[in-house]
Formats: sequence, C-alpha cells, structure tokens
Amino acid sequence: MALIVQKFGGTSVGGPERVRHVAQIITDTYRQGNDVVVVLSAQGKTTDQLLALAKEYNPKASKRELDQLLSTGEQQSVALAAMCIQGMGFPVVSLNAWQVGFKTNTTYGDARISKIETERIRMELDQHKIVIFTGFQGINRRDDITTLGRGGSDASAVALAAALRADLCQIYTDVDGVYTADPNKVEGARKLDEITYDEMLELATLGAKVLHNCSVEMAKRYNVRLEVLSSFTGNPGTKVKEVVKKMENSHVSGVAKDKDIARLALVGLKNEPGVAFRIFSLLSNRKINVDIILQSIGRDDQKDISFTVSRSDLEQAKALLEERKDTLNYESLEVNDHVAKVSIVGAGMIGSPGVAAKMFEALYDAGININMISTSEIKVSVLVDEMDADRAVQTIHDKFFRDFNRRR
Ligand code: ADP
Ligand code: ASP
Ligand code: MG
Repeated sequence: MALIVQKFGGTSVGGPERVRHVAQIITDTYRQGNDVVVVLSAQGKTTDQLLALAKEYNPKASKRELDQLLSTGEQQSVALAAMCIQGMGFPVVSLNAWQVGFKTNTTYGDARISKIETERIRMELDQHKIVIFTGFQGINRRDDITTLGRGGSDASAVALAAALRADLCQIYTDVDGVYTADPNKVEGARKLDEITYDEMLELATLGAKVLHNCSVEMAKRYNVRLEVLSSFTGNPGTKVKEVVKKMENSHVSGVAKDKDIARLALVGLKNEPGVAFRIFSLLSNRKINVDIILQSIGRDDQKDISFTVSRSDLEQAKALLEERKDTLNYESLEVNDHVAKVSIVGAGMIGSPGVAAKMFEALYDAGININMISTSEIKVSVLVDEMDADRAVQTIHDKFFRDFNRRR
C-alpha cells in the first residue's frame, strides 16, 4: 500500500464528464489499496473568468481581495469532485487550505508555502477516506487566503507530497507528459520518458508551463518522486528525477519560450565604477527581478547597459529609472516590450561548445536576429523579437530533434 498524491489541472476537471473520468482514475487508485490525496485546480477557465469578473468591478483591486475571489474556483472544484466520488459510493472528504492548515507567507497573488499541517489529512486517511484538497491556495499568518501564482496547484501537490512523505506525486494534465517543446505549438515535439529535476526546473522557469517552477524546486529539495501524465489518454508519462538515462542523440532536452519579458536599455551611461551597482540595487530594493544583462564595451567615457524584466514589472522599473535619471546619469532610456526569450535546456550541453553555435545557426538560417544572449551550464537563452518567437522555437527544435524524428 502506498500514499499517492494525484493532481488534476483545469482542463482535466473542466466539466461533469471530465470530473467523472477523473473520479474513475482516483477511485481505481484507491481500490488498488492506496491512500489517495487529490489536489485539484479550478475547473476549465474559471480562474481567468474570475479575474475578468474582478476587472468589471475594479481593475485595480487589491491582491488580497483578488486572492479571496480566485480561491473560490478551487473550492468549487473540490466540492463538486467529492460529490461525484460520493455518488460512486466511496468515502471522500474535500478540504480547503484553512481546514488543512496549509500556510504561506503574506505575498498575496504569489505566496510561498511555509508550513503544512498534516494532522487533519492523516486523520481522514486513517478513516480510509479519499482526500480532495484545493490547489493554488494557502492561508497566511493573518488568517487571510493567499494564492500561489498562476499554475500554482502543481506546487500545492508537490508540497503536500513532501509533507506527507508520499510515495509518489502524479501531475495529471492535458498532454501525455513533458515534451521536447510545447506539443500544442511545435511540430515534431516528442515526449520525454524521463527528465532531471534540474532540466525540468530550467524548462519550467523559462516558460514551459507544464509544471510550475516552484513545484519542481520542491520536488528536488525533498526528493519527491514526480510524474507528469495525461488524464485523457492513460499513456505512460514523464518521470522527473535526480538522474536519468541519457537520450541517445541529444545534448538538449527541450526548447522553451517566454513572452512575459521586456527589455530596458540605459544609453550613454558614464563608464566608471559603481554604475551597475546603482542601477541594479535600485531595482532589487523594489523587488524587481532582473534577468539577462548586457553591458556594451565602454567607448569615449560612455557605455550602455540593457537588461530584461518581466512585463508586469516594466512600468515600475521604467518609472523608477526615469525618476533617478539625474543620479544614474544616463542619456536616454529605451524600452521594448515586444520581445520574447527562447531557450534550449540540457544537462548534456556542459562541455559541448557546439550546442550554442548550433542554436545560433538555426536562427541565422531562419533570418532571425538575436538581441541578447545568456548562458548557464545547462541552458542558452536568446532574446528575439516577439513576432519571430514561434518561428524561432520551431526552427531551433527542428535543428536539434529533426534527425531523431526522421529516424523514427
Ligand atoms: P494544467 O491545467 O493541467 O495545469 P497547463 O495548461 O498548466 O495544464 O500545462 C499543460 C500545458 O503546458 C500543455 O497543454 C502544453 O500546451 C503546455 N506546455 C508547454 N511546454 C510544454 C512541454 N515542454 N511539454 C508539455 N507541455 C508543455
Ligand atoms: N487555477 C489556478 C490557475 O489557473 C491554479 C492552477 O491551475 O494551477 O492558475
Ligand atoms: Mg498548470
């Protein structure tokens, strides 16, 4: 007998038929003698609809009130699923974050999980009940409801699996597993049987929303056995683990795209010590995360620094830099929010200098200009114009995976 955490995303529970199907997966697992803790997202597009609804009342609503509203999506979802499972004759209880004691910090809209009480869930499991828990939400020390950021139910599931020392955490979604690129957008994308935590974390952080990046981080930290699979097909999914057997052909595991990015360029800065420090400490004091940074070689006592931030931080970053124009001492500020970041990820690229060149060659062949480049041991990212992004992903994917696909 094992303790299994199963998470189902919005599409997987997007209506009565879907919930009945999911209930079958859950009760099959239960009937095999396992303890089952289920984490659900809001049904279908409920979270988007709630956000749109909030806008009708106040486009500038506080994050606290938004969380209060958004959390109702998951609350509905768990109650309806529990009713369905009840109807099938199984013992079941739905619980929300408050009832469980699923604690987070106070950052509304993007809270971090701080502690999970396990007593209530254990008590229900001891009574042989299937537990259905609300993903995406927590409570903070003020007893307010918080949410974990879009896609955050994955993090709820992995955190619960870690806290309960579950034997397995299964993330059921609307595709068969983790692919070499988004299978809904990229032709020839293929499913990976396995991927390392590190590669998955990079892919998730760089835009592959199949898993929330915090969920992968936690899975790695607490060594949670993690699996991504489809609630539609029953096909074997992708295992996310510490070490994997290397694929035959590639140094690269996947290609990802992130459009939530904007570039700022400070032109005509003084070429002297302390300039970068002043700019980036100013931004970090306001908790604005900076990603790719590029500094030009200084000429005639002047240099330029450009960098990227997420689009939601753009206005604040711009206002801050304009406000401090005199102290920062630059000539002009250029802003571009029609850019996208395209990345390749792969543990196998360490010590393989040809990999980055191969990516750049693919872009050159497609006539796509690179605006910025950033690399780490297991990834290469480029900033391109937003309108080129989808083509860039496809052409890079073709370059790295075409040979393999042809052989099949
Ligand atoms: P859920 O509602 O189940 O949480 P999401 O929409 O958050 O599902 O994530 C699943 C989606 O992630 C897929 O439908 C797919 O379009 C997208 N996706 C992006 N990159 C990848 C990838 N590398 N592998 C698989 N799916 C990906
Ligand atoms: N319902 C939330 C969202 O749409 C959380 C999730 O689906 O993981 O972002
Ligand atoms: Mg998701």
